[in-house]
Amino acid sequence: MLRQLSNGNRAWQISAEIRGSLSADFIQSLTRWCQRGRFAREAGGLVLGFIDIDTGGLLADSITTPCWGDKRSRYSFYRGHGHQVKATQWHRNTDGHGTILGLWHSHPEAIPNPSDTDWNDLANMLRHGTYSGSGLIYLIVGTEHIGLWFGQRDGKIHALGTIQL
Ligand SMILES: [Zn+2]
Repeated sequence: MLRQLSNGNRAWQISAEIRGSLSADFIQSLTRWCQRGRFAREAGGLVLGFIDIDTGGLLADSITTPCWGDKRSRYSFYRGHGHQVKATQWHRNTDGHGTILGLWHSHPEAIPNPSDTDWNDLANMLRHGTYSGSGLIYLIVGTEHIGLWFGQRDGKIHALGTIQL
């Protein structure tokens, strides 16, 4: 479901209406937060991007990074309100085109597996969050792979695959 394109971008598709892409730069910006250090703490934030007018595809462009209000430890990340503030600024800076596309955080494990807390966070955001796409992408940066999921508005989750770092 996750394909690598010749330009290094990754594309994923669930149906004609539900699809998206991750740019090579976007993936690069996530790898910076990979928890390889023995004491490195979890990091996270929002995925920002655009919705393709023609296809409805979710074009992941950038991320918000750890900021004030977050609570970070080796095995947990609590996303503070600062991310929402940054997303609102970004929405303005992109003349109202940029929007929240999803959530990301890191895990100190090779192939990341979402915890119950993670699933609850995604379900809560799907139900109560402000976003304009057909759902939210969910990324976890492990130490060797990035895992990618998509949550539909109705709560259904799709595993889209992993990207090797
Ligand atoms: Zn997690």
